[in-house]
Amino acid sequence: MIKTLLGLSLKGGDKCRLSIIDYHRITPEKDQYVDSVTQAELDWQCSILKEFFNVLPLEQAVDLLQKGQLPTRSAVITFDDGYANNCALALPVLEKWDLPATFFIASGFLDGGIMWNDAIIEAFRRTDYESLEISAPDSFPEDLIGFYDLSTQKKRVETANKFRLAVKYLDLSRREDVVAALVEIAGVKLPKDIMLTSEQVKEIYVSGMAIGGHTQSHPILTTISVEKAKQQIMDDKEKLQQIIGADINHFAYPNGIPRKDFLPVHTDILQELGYKAAVTTKSGVSSPQTDLYQLPRFSPWDKTTFRYLYRMFMNGLGVYG
Ligand SMILES: [Zn+2]
Repeated sequence: MIKTLLGLSLKGGDKCRLSIIDYHRITPEKDQYVDSVTQAELDWQCSILKEFFNVLPLEQAVDLLQKGQLPTRSAVITFDDGYANNCALALPVLEKWDLPATFFIASGFLDGGIMWNDAIIEAFRRTDYESLEISAPDSFPEDLIGFYDLSTQKKRVETANKFRLAVKYLDLSRREDVVAALVEIAGVKLPKDIMLTSEQVKEIYVSGMAIGGHTQSHPILTTISVEKAKQQIMDDKEKLQQIIGADINHFAYPNGIPRKDFLPVHTDILQELGYKAAVTTKSGVSSPQTDLYQLPRFSPWDKTTFRYLYRMFMNGLGVYG
């Protein structure tokens, strides 16, 4: 009965619809600093996906989508960025439920690196200071200059969010400079185990999962030159191919909002480099008419099975797209 209803929205065959689910980091407990999914939540969501959906590897799903031959209630699972917890916490859950997934990896952070947003979070999480004075106008954007009370976790989280928003769209080197200055002022040593190691990428691949590209250092492509964007995409693809010893054919745009975070020129680069399809962060489902280089993704955030299924159903109707 539930499957029949879901099938009305997430159709198969020539009217087929494909739901692509996106995850980032998976944490052991709820993390106040980030909108993470806990391992227990992932386990519960995988149980729903296993029972009510046909979860396919991305490559197979894209192929069947193009041919108009997807089964009803088709879904794909993806993870972005390359967090170490994807191997430690997500992989065992996927294996438990025997579900395939694709992991899009920003390869420049492998083996001890950290993404700018996590560096900001860890600076505020780990600093021993109860307050910070940001005063050097040459290092920081003007809107971050000021005094920050860090005496409670709530205040630390709010300040970290403010910093993340303020530096998100700065150009790559400016963003790095600002983050480095913050880490220095906060007097913290950044952890080296947040992102995957090359060996773990290989382990994920060998376990039967797919690996996809996500640029080398996760710039928002529209904030850098086309030449730099191409280099970022190419270097990442080559490094990942070297690690797994196979072609990398699928890509996820950093931040992923169409026309804001990437443009047709970036899609052209993907095609030129041999990528076969790419996913965005725009909500919705794909149909056989969807541009293969702009496949939307969606993740229900609900805590009950009914709400989860209802939101997948509504997303299939294009309500959130
Ligand atoms: Zn990302």
